[in-house]
Amino acid sequence: MQIDILTLFPAMFEGPFSESILKRAQEKQLLSLRLHDIRNYTTDKHRTVDDTPYGGGGGMVMMPGPLIEAVEAVRGPERGVPVILLTPQGRIFTQRVAQELAQHPRLILICGRYEGVDERVRQTVVTDEISIGDYVLTGGELAAMVVVDAVARLIPGVLGARWAAEEDSHAMGLLEYPHYTRPPEYRGLAVPDVLLRGDHAAIERWRRREAIRRTWQRRPDLLLTAQLSDDERWFLAELAEQDAPMLV
Ligand code: SAM
Repeated sequence: MQIDILTLFPAMFEGPFSESILKRAQEKQLLSLRLHDIRNYTTDKHRTVDDTPYGGGGGMVMMPGPLIEAVEAVRGPERGVPVILLTPQGRIFTQRVAQELAQHPRLILICGRYEGVDERVRQTVVTDEISIGDYVLTGGELAAMVVVDAVARLIPGVLGARWAAEEDSHAMGLLEYPHYTRPPEYRGLAVPDVLLRGDHAAIERWRRREAIRRTWQRRPDLLLTAQLSDDERWFLAELAEQDAPMLV
């Protein structure tokens, strides 16, 4: 997969993109991350990318010219490449959106700054708008890093174990079950017995039930759409009789 990122601050990406899983994904040529400085698409000697808003008001707005030309140059003649504007006004980024984006061979991400981008960028080249949450960042760079990280780990071969991403929280509509590693007892807290016995069917059942319990306690809203067996629905009904969710 190739992800092109248009930004005024390419250096911000150096650390996150050159460590750990993202680094290995690029070394294995499963992922190509390309950074493009929007200032390279300006035409004046001051390399201007922003201007004051028509109609007055504070702040600066990113001009349409450099951004649209940057998208067109980076995209080339290829059709159907998603051009995604990171914006607090976009659809909320979820695991489902990450799964959807991971199906594409290419993505182009636009990082806004200042008060945002001229509306004509949306009208001409943007095909999708994504927000990473209901808060406002100073720029789209951190949001782009979040999107790249979540999408990259879904590319086949990027994570060590094939099933690792499939069991993660949100991948199946539930939060993930609790994890334990050595030692079997720490400060009087023991690892659940079922995990030590090597009965894989029992472990699987315990994990599903703990995932349901955790989801009920922390994110009961997710259970409205989670796919549960009849047996699991009974288990959930029992949970609901015992406890109210911790957070609603
Ligand atoms: N004035 C804009 C508004 O109210 O919608 C916010 C501009 S924000 C200060 C600057 C840039 O940060 C945005 O253009 C966008 O690229 C990025 N940004 C801020 N919050 C974001 C979020 N929650 N998700 C994705 N991008 C965000």
